[in-house]
Amino acid sequence: MNIADVKSRIAENGAVTEIETAIKKAEESSGYNVFLHISRDRAIERAKKVDSGEIKGSLAGVPFAVKDNFLHFDGATTAASRLLSNFTAPLQSEAIERLESEGAICVGSVNLDSFAHGGSTENSAFGVTKNAIDSTTVAGGSSGGSAVAVALDIVPFTLGTDTGGSIRQPASFNGVVGFKPTYGTVSRYGVIAMASSTDTIGVLSSNIKDTESVMSIISGEDKKDMTTLPDFFAPKNIPNGKKKIAVIEEFITEGVDPGVRNVVENAIRVYEKSGYVIEKISLPMIKYALAIYYVVIPAEISSNLSRYDGIRYGNRAEGLMGLEEVYAKTRSNGFMPENKRRIMIGNYVLSSGYFDAYYQKAQKARTLLIKEFTKALDNYDALIGPVAPTPAFKIGSKSSDPLTMYLEDIMTVPASLAGLPSISVPAGFSEGMPVGLQLIGKQKDDANILSLARILEETEK
Ligand code: GLN
Repeated sequence: MNIADVKSRIAENGAVTEIETAIKKAEESSGYNVFLHISRDRAIERAKKVDSGEIKGSLAGVPFAVKDNFLHFDGATTAASRLLSNFTAPLQSEAIERLESEGAICVGSVNLDSFAHGGSTENSAFGVTKNAIDSTTVAGGSSGGSAVAVALDIVPFTLGTDTGGSIRQPASFNGVVGFKPTYGTVSRYGVIAMASSTDTIGVLSSNIKDTESVMSIISGEDKKDMTTLPDFFAPKNIPNGKKKIAVIEEFITEGVDPGVRNVVENAIRVYEKSGYVIEKISLPMIKYALAIYYVVIPAEISSNLSRYDGIRYGNRAEGLMGLEEVYAKTRSNGFMPENKRRIMIGNYVLSSGYFDAYYQKAQKARTLLIKEFTKALDNYDALIGPVAPTPAFKIGSKSSDPLTMYLEDIMTVPASLAGLPSISVPAGFSEGMPVGLQLIGKQKDDANILSLARILEETEK
């Protein structure tokens, strides 16, 4: 489903009909466990205002859904946790506000790994979201609901967050476009923080043109988020640059699924045919990226999650007890095991005595990784590779072993640590399951990366 088709249907049948259809599809998809809340009354009310001409804009009446870590009106914003199961947001996230000011209609919130910790949407307190193509496999994560909602054609686009791959990997697993812009492109105001130095808001949709339209609306400086960059995003039809692309050698090792490698090789041929010179490049620091990520990110997580103590935020444990017990009971009831694991790692690496050995060392290594990327991207328009070593895996096959699960992130965390724009664009299949190609660009080269990805999108696969 694309936005242009939705708009022509709205012009013909009205926004109320379009929204009712989206809500019906959302309800019918309950077997996939995509939606945590459907904003029926609010959405229909807004659709009526579109039909009466009271609400206008470039997306007037177009339905979308948000990952349930975006503060939104109507229903609770839960971050897929028991802790926030009753939390009604006092405000909406800036990204939603900007879309609504263009007339778009939020039809509900979708599932994720609790607090966005994970890569499969199995860590949700509200059950597993299933893959749109094969429901015995995972949706990917943590923006699993956002990817499946698009893949099942419920809405033309969704919002997601990507801290270490959470937009790109589920997009790859469900055969949709998932774009993580340059860090700071979209305001994080009103989005539940995971790790503030890599948290990035982005878009999942069925095609690049729609990604560009949504990005044009949500990107740009916001006084309420000091890390936002002044608006630089302007979509372009033809990519400019050196006509050179490099494949990251560390991403196509023996451990990668042969079907995934095949898809990458085919994509390389597409770019060669379009006149691109393809070279291989080694970025030696990439082999440390996962280790850096799983020190720095838990450190940030542990401090960001400290506010969920049952006093400031979160469902407070019931009963008569002392303060420390309130904290302990609230947090042990409210968090999922993966959340707790990360809080423990984070506190450990930040504790005096270990701070230098882990946190500070990881930050130094991160700087070296960023330098390697900067140097490589001076010579190429983009770096490419798979999004993940495998297509969607079976539900339950990795959830008991956190380290195996973390290995899934090996190809997405490097761009996150460096704040670079990166996309997963559908590129083919491995044994019937979709596989995306990842393109990584220079900071602020977002428009170019999108138009480069379009070359692949426009080729028959
Ligand atoms: N899978 C990664 C993790 O578990 C990425 C999560 C994310 O981007 N939110 O940390």
